[in-house]
Amino acid sequence: MVLILDGKTHADHMLAEAAAVVADRAAQGLRPPCLAVVLVGDDPASHVYVSGKIKACARTGIRSLEHRIPAGTSQHDLEALIAELNQDPEVDGILVQLPLPGGLDAKRATRCIDPRKDVDGLHPVNQGLLMGGQRGLRPCTPSACISMLKAYGIALKGSRAVVLGRSEIVGKPIGLMLLEEHATVTIAHSRTVDLPGLCREADLLVAAVGRPGMVEGSWIRPGATVVDVGINRVADLELGARIFRADPEKLETLRARGSVLCGDVRFREAALVAGAITPVPGGVGPLTIAGLMANTLQACEAMEQVVQIQETL
Ligand code: NAP
Repeated sequence: MVLILDGKTHADHMLAEAAAVVADRAAQGLRPPCLAVVLVGDDPASHVYVSGKIKACARTGIRSLEHRIPAGTSQHDLEALIAELNQDPEVDGILVQLPLPGGLDAKRATRCIDPRKDVDGLHPVNQGLLMGGQRGLRPCTPSACISMLKAYGIALKGSRAVVLGRSEIVGKPIGLMLLEEHATVTIAHSRTVDLPGLCREADLLVAAVGRPGMVEGSWIRPGATVVDVGINRVADLELGARIFRADPEKLETLRARGSVLCGDVRFREAALVAGAITPVPGGVGPLTIAGLMANTLQACEAMEQVVQIQETL
């Protein structure tokens, strides 16, 4: 019987832990940690993600500051806002919601964030710390995935891990984190030859490609752990009929509602073969926000330690 890795429950646990730390700080007379979220433009999905992050702040007692700015904002003005937030001693974390509207350079904007406040873990300083196996702010989705796998007691040490996708936000960092956990890691991408054969070698398969239902049940090694990071909205009936062959419920939802959410893995097919698997929705999705709250706390506490050290000098 396959084990369903319940990301929602693990995320709730992480949020409760963060809330307890914030409450403990309040009891000591310390201010709440503060996350500043910068949302540029009107992308509806980004608005949904940002409101989820703001709600999680409210739930944990983390203070949130929202900066909603128009799509036509210049790179210069965006970077000026980031510089202001960098200077604000009350702001612990800065998150610039991606993707940015056309014409704005996300990499440049990310490089402007003070690495100590880079709660997305995308600044080159934090990427370097991760590469060097040192403590820093790490991308939220991969670190929360590792936290969940450990909580479920999934053996990582010595395992053969295959990561599909080499993005800076998911694929590369989760590959490095798995390596740190002593897994033997292969990171695959769009030019990798024989993906199905490679996936069949994996004790742990992480799919982060953004291709609905790309990973078929026949790609999974019996008993493997499957982490499906993909979040895709499918509205095409022909595609749905193909990828949801073994999933009449999803197909029915697609027909009834006109679209349905799914991962990169064909869940029903894969669940027949895998030992453990994350569903979509309810798997990796909720973990990202929980990871963001944990990073905001980490940034706040690290900054306070620096201030304390400076005061003793
Ligand atoms: P991304 O930046 O678009 O990267 C996709 C990666 O997949 C690239 O490395 C690409 O290879 C590879 N790829 C694409 N098509 C492929 C194919 N046919 N065969 C093999 N590799 C292929 O995506 P991302 O930001 O990492 O996100 C991936 C998915 O995770 C998306 O569905 C996204 O919505 C989801 N996501 C979820 C969360 C969450 O909270 N659960 C967080 C972040 C992302 P190349 O490098 O060769 O182009």
